[in-house]
Amino acid sequence: MPTKYIFVTGGVTSSLGKGIISASLAKLLQARGYSVTIQKLDPYINIDPGTMNPYEHGECYVTEDGAETDLDLGHYERFLNVTTSQANNVTTGRIYQAVITKERRGDYLGKTVQIIPHITDEIKRRIKLLGKNNRYDFVITEIGGTVGDIESLPYVEAVRQLKWEMPENVLVVHLTLVPYLAAAGELKTKPTQHSVKMLLENGVQPDILVLRTEKSLTNEIRKKVALFCNVDIHAVIESKDVSTIYEVPLLMHKEKLDTTVLTKLGFKVEGEPELKPWTDFVKNLKNPVTEVTISLIGKYVELVDAYKSINESLIHAGSINKCKVNIRRIHSEKITEENVEELLKNVNGILVAPGFGLRGIEGKILAVKYARMNNIPFLGICLGMQCAVVEFGRNVLGMKDAHSTEMDHETKHPVIDLMEEQKQVTEKGGTMRLGAYPCILKKNSKSYHAYKKTEISERHKHRYEFNNYFLADYEKAGMVSAGINPDTNLVEIFEIPVHKWFIGVQFHPEFKSTVLNPHPLFAEFVKAAAAIPKTGTF
Ligand code: GLN
Repeated sequence: MPTKYIFVTGGVTSSLGKGIISASLAKLLQARGYSVTIQKLDPYINIDPGTMNPYEHGECYVTEDGAETDLDLGHYERFLNVTTSQANNVTTGRIYQAVITKERRGDYLGKTVQIIPHITDEIKRRIKLLGKNNRYDFVITEIGGTVGDIESLPYVEAVRQLKWEMPENVLVVHLTLVPYLAAAGELKTKPTQHSVKMLLENGVQPDILVLRTEKSLTNEIRKKVALFCNVDIHAVIESKDVSTIYEVPLLMHKEKLDTTVLTKLGFKVEGEPELKPWTDFVKNLKNPVTEVTISLIGKYVELVDAYKSINESLIHAGSINKCKVNIRRIHSEKITEENVEELLKNVNGILVAPGFGLRGIEGKILAVKYARMNNIPFLGICLGMQCAVVEFGRNVLGMKDAHSTEMDHETKHPVIDLMEEQKQVTEKGGTMRLGAYPCILKKNSKSYHAYKKTEISERHKHRYEFNNYFLADYEKAGMVSAGINPDTNLVEIFEIPVHKWFIGVQFHPEFKSTVLNPHPLFAEFVKAAAAIPKTGTF
């Protein structure tokens, strides 16, 4: 069978969960033994979300090959347990950049360069790239934005062309909302009808409709939608709100989304998908035997999407430990010497989040100090690890002005500093230490106990590093390196061995936690937190 291309578009409103529907469909196909990959096409002009503020875009997810991508790629990896790459996230910026580069090279041989066919051809090339050499049975492509947006038009046009070129290999799933009007006591299908009309105006007939709804759809409603939107009734799929996104694949299976997709693409459907590990995960998640409260300290805590992968990693760690993880988000700017005890005294674990810049940094450092002094399990990620180094330098080693040169250029004790090669960098986009790097763990460390191996690889997203000039002093005073980059000797993990569980990592473990493979550091962190009902003074 040639590779099949499934497009997922969205209508009526944004935030309906196209990413979760795409990932759930991919999961079901994978659980039936097919190879699947998912791609996200983002209609904005930035080359990638790496330079965007979390307020604009939520978390920027990083892949093995160092691509800074949309957070939906995180869902894809967490659901499928397979890695993605730069090719899985394409933006309008990247498309235009490629076309303009070709134009400057003279590749268009004097022709006028236009949206159709040049931009649409480049979009189609990026989609087909993933299906090259039949590497996958299915390529699922999620089109960002909402049908009707000016920015989305070239993408919808590319879908129309592909459907026209290979009708038997292309399928379009359209996700819409069926709102419940309390005053009328009814579910309303009109917005769905309108959004399908809009797709039709652009020449695309959806094959399957997934209707997001608060209440169950009656057969009447399904029939009505089928009739008005030219889809058969089995292709009207209900997606009712659920308490966890991890239930969505099970729900989609109940609605026979996988069977409908396969049948429409000419496959014979036999047997059931292998979903046992997934259902076990959901069962554990919904039936915890203990409970912990982890405090997540960052400066974007009011935005749930800003720390998406950390939230999900804690959920995975909770499931494997049969432990409900309550996340108490605390804004780092709100933490002061006076209130730190009040804010943190009842939590079982403290996680200081990654981040950039000066705002809220002293609150993070105070939280680290509280965790260190009160023997509360601590996980510091990237900037969180750097804060742990600064705190230890100031309060244990007595270097009162210890800091990262990101925050204080003039400090006499630059315990966190730029690497030589970073000092020459002037461009902001794509120039950090990004993607997977190896790390060798020390055998007697808590990290080794978690990973159970000495050679690991983790993903990075930062410019600054621990300054090895200070390493001997730190180790003598009790904060030791537990993981080293074998090529550069950079410290990737710090631990305080006499503390219950205190680990700071320069990398981002949250990008590698999946449903089937919860990350060992998160799993051990939650386990350590669950074992400590109330802490004593250290
Ligand atoms: N701002 C820090 C650096 O660039 C940490 C980055 C992060 O937490 N991702 O090194």
